Amino acid sequence: MKILTQIEAQLLNSKFFFTGEPCGNGHISKRYASCGNCFECVQVRYNAKREELKVKARAYHARDPAMHNERWRRWLEKNIEYRRRYLTEWKMKHATNEV
Ligand SMILES: [Zn+2]
Repeated sequence: MKILTQIEAQLLNSKFFFTGEPCGNGHISKRYASCGNCFECVQVRYNAKREELKVKARAYHARDPAMHNERWRRWLEKNIEYRRRYLTEWKMKHATNEV
């Protein structure tokens, strides 16, 4: 990757820059031009947060599954066309992964 300073990246309208220097956590990774944050660090934090939210959502659902299923059923009744479209688009997007 080309060595760029944060200012140069901003002037070039680039989303990232790369110094070749390790971040505080030792990643030698591209950085966000907007804030200077290490891309790897942001990914690690994002994935940790995602896992945390998944665990929380499962626990929330487990407290009253019948209520959540009923809520989902009611939402589905109201939004059936949206759901059909979403599933069709999803299938088309992931069609290449099918065996
Ligand atoms: Zn980092």
